[in-house]
Amino acid sequence: MSRGGTGAEGPHVPTRTCVGCRQRGERAQLRRYVAVEGRLVDDVAKSAPGRGAWLHDEPACWERAVVRKAFPRALRCRVDVEPGTPQLGAA
Ligand SMILES: [Zn+2]
Repeated sequence: MSRGGTGAEGPHVPTRTCVGCRQRGERAQLRRYVAVEGRLVDDVAKSAPGRGAWLHDEPACWERAVVRKAFPRALRCRVDVEPGTPQLGAA
């Protein structure tokens, strides 16, 4: 019987839950989306204020998030999800 297994968790890496597949992933490997004036925007810098929805950069996760209406749920507001999501600061 061994107790106090320190280091079993490995190095601490910030993780976020993907709103599409609900799997946790490293923050660096997920994209962050925010709602700006009712539209979903890709928060490229991952630093926009307010709530954010995290998503794997994969079409399958995107589709699941759209089908499940995960974006409005995660962002707590109504958002229009358009193909070709605009990028924050790119306009
Ligand atoms: Zn995912």
